[in-house]
Amino acid sequence: MPSHDVIVAGAGPAGSSAARAAALGGASVALLEREAEVAQSVRTSGVTWMDAIREFGIPRECYHPVRTYSMFSPRNEVVVRDSAARAAVLDVRRTYRRLASRAVEAGAELHAGTPAKGPILEGGAVRGVRTARAEFRARVTVDATGFHSAVARGAGLVAPWRRFGVGAEWEAHAEGAEEDEWWLMVGSEYSPAGYAWVFPLGGDMVRIGVGIAKPESGEDPAARLARLLERRPGPLARLGRVETTEYHYGIIPNGGASRKTVHDGLLLAGDTAGQANPIVLEGIRHAIRYGESAGREAARAAASGDASARAMRGYEKSWRREIASRIRAASRVQDRWLDLDDAAWDAELDAIRGLSADEFLDFVRGDFGPGYIARMAAAHPRLAARQLGRLVAGALSGPR
Ligand SMILES: Cc1cc2nc3c(=O)[nH]c(=O)nc-3n(C[C@H](O)[C@H](O)[C@H](O)COP(=O)(O)OP(=O)(O)OC[C@H]3O[C@@H](n4cnc5c(N)ncnc54)[C@H](O)[C@@H]3O)c2cc1C
Repeated sequence: MPSHDVIVAGAGPAGSSAARAAALGGASVALLEREAEVAQSVRTSGVTWMDAIREFGIPRECYHPVRTYSMFSPRNEVVVRDSAARAAVLDVRRTYRRLASRAVEAGAELHAGTPAKGPILEGGAVRGVRTARAEFRARVTVDATGFHSAVARGAGLVAPWRRFGVGAEWEAHAEGAEEDEWWLMVGSEYSPAGYAWVFPLGGDMVRIGVGIAKPESGEDPAARLARLLERRPGPLARLGRVETTEYHYGIIPNGGASRKTVHDGLLLAGDTAGQANPIVLEGIRHAIRYGESAGREAARAAASGDASARAMRGYEKSWRREIASRIRAASRVQDRWLDLDDAAWDAELDAIRGLSADEFLDFVRGDFGPGYIARMAAAHPRLAARQLGRLVAGALSGPR
C-alpha cells in the first residue's frame, strides 16, 4: 500500500511548489529534503523578475529590487536605466524556506535530512523512493532534486547532464557597491566561458560571482573568482574593501529541454526537467511555475488511480507549449554567445546601448516571443545588423 499519494524529492523551489500544489489538490504528500534544513546551503544568485515575484506572492522581506542594469566587456560598458524596478535579487534562504513552509501549511509533511537514495521500481514504474531509514511508497513521485536528478537517474530514465554551468559566489559587504544596480561582466578576463556578476542586496551587501560553462572550459569558477577579487578588473576596481560573509557554489544543467519529463509513476520538475532559461542560466521562476504544474498533475493522477506516463502526459505538453521553443532559441543564442571574443563583445555592447530596459530584459530573460526579431529590427536597425541581432535571428529561425 502506498504511504502517500505523492512523494516529492527535493525541497528547492520546484519541489516545495509541487508539494504545495499536490496538497492543495487533495493529495497526501511527503516532501523529502536531503539537507538537514531547507536551503541550508545556497546554490544560486537569486535574481528574478518583479512580475514573477507578484505572480508567486513572494513577500517584500524576501527580495531587493533592481532597476539599473550595467554590462561590462573588456573595453566597453553600457548602462540600461529603468524608471521602475523590473528585476530583484532574492533573499534565497528566506524565499526557499517560505515556499517550503507554504507546502507544509497546505498539508504536506516535510522530512528534512532525508535524502532519496533511489526509486522503488515495480514493473518498470516508479512507486516511491527509498531513503536510508525507510521506504516512502506513493502513487506518483516528483523528482525535483535539481541537477542530481536522484530518482530519475536511479531509475535509469535519464543520463547525467553533459552540459552544465558551475558558479561560485561570495556574499559580501562591499564599499562602493551600487544599491539598485547589477553588473554583468563578459569577456575572457571575467569568465573563460560565461560571465561574472555583482548583484546588490541592499546597503553595502552584494553577491559577487563567476559562472563557467562545462565542458567548454575546464576552469574552476572558485579560482577565477579569487583572481577577480585580487586583480579587480573593470568595474570591480570601483569597489573599496570587500569583506566576504558567505560562500555559495552551485551547478545548473545546460542541456535545454532535452529530457522526457513524464514516466510511469514519475514527473520531473525544475532543473531536473531542464526548465531553466539558458541565456543566463536562470531557473527559479520556471521551477516554481512548473513545480506547481507537476504537483497539480500528480494530485490529479493519484486521485484517478492512473499514474501512467500516458495519463500524466498533459504536464509535459503544457510546459513544453509555454517554454520549450524559447529554451531552444535561447540555447542557440547562448552557444553563439560562448563563442564571442573580447573584441566582438566590445562591439556588441555598443549595439545594446540603444535598447530600452524592456528590450534588454526580454533578451536577458530569453523572452523571444513571436515577432521579437521583426520588432527589434524595426526599432534598432543597428542592433539587428550586428552579431547579437544576427545570432538571435539565427536562433529563432533554426530547426525546432
Ligand atoms: C551559480 C548559480 C547561479 C544561479 N543564479 C540564478 C539566478 O540568479 N536566478 C535564477 O532564477 N536562477 C539561478 N540559478 C538557477 C537556479 O538556482 C535553479 O534553476 C533553481 O534553483 C532550480 O530549482 P529546483 O528546485 O529545480 O532545484 P534546486 O534549487 O537545485 O533544489 C533541489 C533540492 O533538492 C535537494 N536534493 C538534492 N538531492 C536530493 C536527494 N537525493 N534527496 C532529497 N533531496 C535532494 C537539494 O538539497 C535541494 O534542496 C543559478 C544556478 C547556479 C548554479
